[in-house]
Amino acid sequence: MATSNLISIASPLPLPESSSLAATEDGRLRDSHGRAITDLRISVTDRCNYKCVYCRTGEENVQFTELPIEHYLRMIRIFVSLGIEKVRITGGEPLLRAGVVDMIAELAQMRTSYAGDDGPSNQKLDIALTTNGHLLETMAAPLKAAGLNRVTVSMDAVDSDTFSRITRVPRSFDRVLAGIRSARDAGLGPVKVNCVLLRGFNDDQIERFAEFSRTENVIVRFIEWMPLEEPSSAPGSRTWAPETVVPMDEIVSRLNAYRPLVDLAPNAASETARRFTFDDGIGEIGIIAPVSRPFCGHCSRVRLTSDGKIRTCLFSQSDHDLEKKIMQGKSDPEIETYIRQIVFRKEARHHIGEPGFLKPSRNMVHIGG
Ligand code: SAM
Repeated sequence: MATSNLISIASPLPLPESSSLAATEDGRLRDSHGRAITDLRISVTDRCNYKCVYCRTGEENVQFTELPIEHYLRMIRIFVSLGIEKVRITGGEPLLRAGVVDMIAELAQMRTSYAGDDGPSNQKLDIALTTNGHLLETMAAPLKAAGLNRVTVSMDAVDSDTFSRITRVPRSFDRVLAGIRSARDAGLGPVKVNCVLLRGFNDDQIERFAEFSRTENVIVRFIEWMPLEEPSSAPGSRTWAPETVVPMDEIVSRLNAYRPLVDLAPNAASETARRFTFDDGIGEIGIIAPVSRPFCGHCSRVRLTSDGKIRTCLFSQSDHDLEKKIMQGKSDPEIETYIRQIVFRKEARHHIGEPGFLKPSRNMVHIGG
């Protein structure tokens, strides 16, 4: 079954007629599995100033273009008119993108179109940003002033040497730590710190991250490594294999040995992380387990790449050229219909670890995590 599914995902299917969508839609953006799509992740640049060994080859080549900010804003406006409530800015490294603060100020003016879990329509968007934190120290306050609500900082070690070994950028740890503290002080909280664990490489950091959450007052989230790295034989680069993944159960048992964990309720049905605190209520840990405990059934996400392609799943075998529609001069209603047709065909789930698994048509850094 997995194989036949993959073949059907890989081959271009005819788009559904917009009339056939009318039968299934209640106005807001939904896929054919009935999932409401409320969360848009948008990459605003393909460039990154880090070369993390589990993500990038280490070569400096930019593969995909970036669009004028106004194009992203028009796309987002249309998505919001269809039901998007949360927008996450990502990359590449989004803080490298000139104009990102002004872009957030524009997003802060937009209002939701449909009633959501948290209340009626016409609410401000939930605007978040994922960054490696290298440029965050000075940018946190302007981002907050522009209307950013929350920031997630990627940090895969809490000691300086291991961190530089991962990012392949000397003295990067101090910069990121300063960025995290600055974000927290600017009110971009609760600050989440995401750590991708690789067995035998940085899994010795689990307990130290627990300590970090408690002392720095941030939410630490451990993420299972997915097969989304750039293919590389470059020195230091890591290639995905099932045995390099540190699964949720192992992380939980290590943390419990450090100090007893206490379950926290999910914030929402589509929450990707299982949440915990410790027995004294200090610190918060999330574990995101797309490999050992996939959460596709609740997926509410769609992605836009830096060159304006829609991706309906991290593991999609193809993407869909929204920028081309803009360049062709299509009207907003025409673009809405196109988006509905694409999103309708969102994949049911990913197939990591199954026989016949195909790597996606893009790697994480070129999609936007
Ligand atoms: N540059 C920004 C950053 O570092 O957060 C945004 C882009 S980065 C690709 C987004 C996130 O994806 C980071 O937290 C990174 O650790 C994570 N990531 C990259 N490759 C991954 C993989 N193969 N599996 C799981 N997470 C991955």
